[in-house]
Amino acid sequence: MGIFKKGSKAYSIFNFKCPKCMEGNLYETRSFSFKKPFEMHEHCPVCNQDFEPEPGFYYGAMFISYIFSSFFCIGFLLVFHWVFDFSLMASFGMLVAFIAIFFVVIFRLARSIWISANVKYNPTQQIKQ
Ligand SMILES: [Zn+2]
Repeated sequence: MGIFKKGSKAYSIFNFKCPKCMEGNLYETRSFSFKKPFEMHEHCPVCNQDFEPEPGFYYGAMFISYIFSSFFCIGFLLVFHWVFDFSLMASFGMLVAFIAIFFVVIFRLARSIWISANVKYNPTQQIKQ
């Protein structure tokens, strides 16, 4: 699983790590703690990378989560309606429940993808604490 090794984009995205040093966490709490689900560190606690380089930086992340959720919702409905033969209303109900549970993960993943796309891996500039 080379793409999930440290130093790859996938590693920082799926572990919610700082894309620059891949050591510091992007978020203050774990994904399923539901405590402060949308709170990010302002700077990387390890290398001091700015996690919000400019105001409105995460505007682009909204497009990622929008595109991702649209395809996901359509796929989800199609599978449950036609493959598992649920009624359309039942499929919708399950979709809403599913989104409610995974909203935090999708939100965090979109931001994680966005900052990884904009910040390069550069472990040499770590500040030793
Ligand atoms: Zn860092």
